[in-house]
Amino acid sequence: MIRCYLLLAACVCFAQDPIAPHSAYEPPAAKAAASLASSTKDSPRDLLTTGEKSGWNETAPYAEAVDIANRLERASRFVKVLDIGTTPEGRTMIAIVVSKDRAFTPESAARANKAIIMIQSGIHAGEIEGKDTALMLVRDMTVTKRFAAWLDHAIFVIIPVFNVDGHENFSPYHRPSQNGPRSTGLRATAQRVNLNRDYIKADTPEMRAWLKIFNSWMPDFHIDNHVTDGSDFQYDVTWDMARNQDLADPAGSWVRERFIPELDKRMAADGHMVAPYGALRPVAGKREFFMEVFSPRYSHLYAAVQNRPSLLVESHSLKAAKTRAWAHYDIMRHSIETILLDPEALRRAVREADRELASRAGLRSAAPVYLAGKVSDRSRPLVYHALKSGPFKSEITGAMVNRYLPEPDDLETRIHDQIDTTAEAQIPLGYLIPIAWKDLADVLALHGVEMERTNKPIEQEFETYRFSGTKFATTSFEGRVMLDFDARPVKEKTAIPAGSYWVPMKQRRARLILAMLEPQAPDSLARWGFLNTVFEGGGRGGVGEYLSEPIARRMMAHSPELRKQFEARLASDPQFAADRQARLNWWFQQSKYEAGDTGRYPVVRVWEKTW
Ligand SMILES: [Zn+2]
Repeated sequence: MIRCYLLLAACVCFAQDPIAPHSAYEPPAAKAAASLASSTKDSPRDLLTTGEKSGWNETAPYAEAVDIANRLERASRFVKVLDIGTTPEGRTMIAIVVSKDRAFTPESAARANKAIIMIQSGIHAGEIEGKDTALMLVRDMTVTKRFAAWLDHAIFVIIPVFNVDGHENFSPYHRPSQNGPRSTGLRATAQRVNLNRDYIKADTPEMRAWLKIFNSWMPDFHIDNHVTDGSDFQYDVTWDMARNQDLADPAGSWVRERFIPELDKRMAADGHMVAPYGALRPVAGKREFFMEVFSPRYSHLYAAVQNRPSLLVESHSLKAAKTRAWAHYDIMRHSIETILLDPEALRRAVREADRELASRAGLRSAAPVYLAGKVSDRSRPLVYHALKSGPFKSEITGAMVNRYLPEPDDLETRIHDQIDTTAEAQIPLGYLIPIAWKDLADVLALHGVEMERTNKPIEQEFETYRFSGTKFATTSFEGRVMLDFDARPVKEKTAIPAGSYWVPMKQRRARLILAMLEPQAPDSLARWGFLNTVFEGGGRGGVGEYLSEPIARRMMAHSPELRKQFEARLASDPQFAADRQARLNWWFQQSKYEAGDTGRYPVVRVWEKTW
């Protein structure tokens, strides 16, 4: 696509208009988009967004969102605009707090005993209808007052645009498969990072600002607005949530039993076509529907390792921008109204999940906690509302190319929406991070993890891991080289210097800490490359063969037992016998010269605090 764009840009004789692919199908109720239209109709002129004023053909620069936020603050005592950070290009990031109690700090919000709901848009800045529609909801709560009653039971923290630099990188060519607005921002930040992969590693100033807000306000519920690409279907909006063993009960059961069924019902009643986020895949000659398994590098699974439900909203790039705005407006509205049917049920569920996880710390008899999984073969019946397709012969490719038709294809199929666990871990009493690995503790601190410093050296046997089969990725991903390995649990005598970091697991972030410190977890700090020197041979430096050969020869002379093992290996392994370096390394591995901590995870698991 980028090559295409360069070609078009270079050749001024070509039309400069971006491609505007329209969907083959829009839900009938999208035409009136009644809820959206009535919010616009009731608004004072100076609080209308460019989306509304342009019939959703345009979206405005970030300055408009900040300007409307400031106008809302002047118009209502219940609104406060917070500066929450600075982007790499020097722009100020804002959040809008809406509170009838004027609880504009995390401490006062916690005292208000109301549900705290956090909404963010524009983490992928080209996927932007959440921006205007969240501002519309603030207007509806505080100015036109149609939703004023929400503020009796909830406090809102709204980030109108998360990826601000990406949002200001406007172009008609960033979203070639998106049906409006005419120009949008870019998915990546100015540093070319995808913020929706940065939740654990927290490399960017934007994510560090977000972590401060999330961890200080600790919302009870979180919403992240996106626009998906991919195959066309009848649905105007799809969602994903942690709802299986990837979210602790009773928060998980609240999502499964109370939230999702009610949200689906309310959306359908307003004429939306709503489905889980996923794709049809061939199974034994038929098509079945598969959801995905996400990990905490994504916003909604990050919230989940903090025991907080999070709704990933994905409207569709092929639907009209107005249809998307209608979808975002209503799915946020109905999510809020579903929560507010019984806000205490949500507040109790998330706090109970916090307590339940913390209470498992150090209990050898307690059940292990889910770290990773894959989509299950188990499935349930589903009627999936796809579209028929009519492939045509392409002059360009010389082959058949798919084209969607405006004809519903209501498919009786099965949905795979459960997870089979592939990695899990018990919660130890805590972890010790040796002082030399302060960088790991610094990342935990960004996530609000509570830690203490040790005041004397500790040397005893601890649980940890030995890595083997290390495979570094062949390309960089999100600015890091990730790696895969086998992590074998071991018990080893380990010296932990004074001033090291004690990470107690009797805290509400126990599951987040597992996700970061258990190396086999998909987004562990080990996998993201925070410990790569561990895999590099212990820093002993090279020893020339002229020195190592005599050392090996002396060892052989002094140890008939080692000599026997060596000779057995030579006899049984011709490849080994032919490899002079491997033969030498074999002796070195038996010697005291081999660094004993090569491939050993420096963080240890503690079951009993003896100091
Ligand atoms: Zn996105």
